[in-house]
Amino acid sequence: MQIQNVRNFAIIAHIDHGKSTLADRIMEQTQTVSDRESQAQLLDDLAVEQAHGVTVKSRTVRNYYTADDGQEYEYNFIDTPGHVDFTYEVSKSLAASDGALLLVDATQGVQAQTVANLRLAQDNHLTVIPVINKIDAAAADVERTAEQIRSLSPDFADVTMLKISAKTGLNVHDVLEAIHTTIPAPTGSLKQPLKALVFDSQYDAFKGIIAYVRLMDGQLKPNDKLKLMATDQPVMANEIGIFTPQRVAAKQLVAGDVGYVVTGLKDPQALRVGDTLTSVANPTATALPGYQPSQSMVFAGFYPQGDHYHDLQLAVEKLALNDASFHYRPESSDALGAGFRCGFLGIFHLQIIRERLHDEYGLDVLTTAPNVTYRVHVKNGDDPLIVDNPIKFPDYSKIDYVEEPLATATITTTSESLSDVMKLATQHKGELQDMRNQGDLVVLEYQLPFAEIAYDFFNALKSVSHGYATLTTELAGYDIADVVKVEVHVNYARVDALSFVVHREDAPLMAQELVHKLKFVIPRKLNPMPVQSVVEGKALARVDVPPLRKNAAANGEKRSTSKKQALLRRQSMNKRQSAHSDIELPQEVFNAVLDLE
Ligand code: GDP
Ligand code: MG
Repeated sequence: MQIQNVRNFAIIAHIDHGKSTLADRIMEQTQTVSDRESQAQLLDDLAVEQAHGVTVKSRTVRNYYTADDGQEYEYNFIDTPGHVDFTYEVSKSLAASDGALLLVDATQGVQAQTVANLRLAQDNHLTVIPVINKIDAAAADVERTAEQIRSLSPDFADVTMLKISAKTGLNVHDVLEAIHTTIPAPTGSLKQPLKALVFDSQYDAFKGIIAYVRLMDGQLKPNDKLKLMATDQPVMANEIGIFTPQRVAAKQLVAGDVGYVVTGLKDPQALRVGDTLTSVANPTATALPGYQPSQSMVFAGFYPQGDHYHDLQLAVEKLALNDASFHYRPESSDALGAGFRCGFLGIFHLQIIRERLHDEYGLDVLTTAPNVTYRVHVKNGDDPLIVDNPIKFPDYSKIDYVEEPLATATITTTSESLSDVMKLATQHKGELQDMRNQGDLVVLEYQLPFAEIAYDFFNALKSVSHGYATLTTELAGYDIADVVKVEVHVNYARVDALSFVVHREDAPLMAQELVHKLKFVIPRKLNPMPVQSVVEGKALARVDVPPLRKNAAANGEKRSTSKKQALLRRQSMNKRQSAHSDIELPQEVFNAVLDLE
């Protein structure tokens, strides 16, 4: 295929606006897949994607399209995720593309991620084709959506709006034509040395690391000797090929192509997404700019159940290879032993990684309560300590002051739900910065502690707005916060992995709530066990986990309460030394911390 006839583009949109459906229609209308295959959505094949009905991983597919001008074009498209937690995945896909289809659902109009993804595309200098989708739906307001799109960017002022139904296929042909007439062909040269962007990767049990590449210059054949430029890591092109969407081996890849390279590397850490692949014999002079590493916003500990530390290590290494926004490093806790401190872009991301560990690696991990990163300034210290694990939060006597991360949250909602949404944001310590109308919708901008939105804010927002509100968040720096560490003591021994950090004003209520939940989920022992939440050395709340079977205290109905407590305490004192190590911590115990309001 001549490079002039190649087009590389991404499909971007707000979640649920129809990217994967349009991707399916494109594959169907270019006969990339048979009609039988196209019965079901082809691209969202991860179990987590089917379970949640969302795209988590970008997918690449090569299609051949015979256009109305009689020429055949090669269309490489990348279907991208829409959820705000996967923006990093989108930005990688855009760096491998020359253009983007920006889909907007005509029943919902322009939404937060529409704007965010358009910005990403413009930052990558892509040609953007706006497409109005779902025009078949009864609730579609095509004209209003067209107006909203026009107001997004001067580039859209006088484009002809494509109006389609990805579901029925109506006018999808117009999209196929617009791609080759509007999006530029790649500009690379076959004669230059090989320069290929590694925009994604995957670990295959048999073949090792497979790099997904976009060739900017040069060409690539099987058995070529290559190297990764950031690390000088040598790589053999054991096999090269394209995505149809399955991997299909090919004899050559040339400038402008999107495809894969089976590298033969077995160590999952040997390759970094964003690196440049070039040839050993004739290397390119400069590497591609690559990506900024993603910044984790939420952290949690992952611990193996039973004797599976090594399995968990291999699994997180391989997942990190496939998801460059997932970070991990070893950590250990007295209560749980060896595990990993993991960093995520948000709580939904955390949930997806847990499910992928289960689905793809058969591992159920114990997950500690998520937290954000604090900057702790200790007395007489120079630089602040960066604390992303509550276990490492210094003793209160040593702390001068603490800073916590703030978020700017942009919420788009309907005027009907406005007051409930504002109430929710205020409950989460949000301060209103800006409020404006966007068509019939209201756009609110709040500044609030990142920890407040890191947990269930998104779900609460969906619920108070009956599903209409949308949210994007951005880190807005750090600010001083009066936060304290809440420790949990079981049988007078601190269980380090249950510690968490909260605003001081919220601590008493959360401490109460937590011990009452723990009462029912901490496995019972022969003796009653006190469970306490402790803040700055003082117990704020206490309950007793009842013993397994009846004992002196349990049938001492006639005893006074204080005597009963004294007895309970004596009983547990006897077990104190051994108490700490023999408390089992099932996942429900951590969920109790997670579910606190
Ligand atoms: P994505 O999150 O952007 O990949 O969205 P999907 O392609 O998964 O589509 C989300 C939902 O919208 C699915 O239930 C689709 O069946 C539906 N959908 C997609 N395109 C259309 C369309 O043109 N018309 C209608 N009525 N529904 C559509
Ligand atoms: Mg999708």
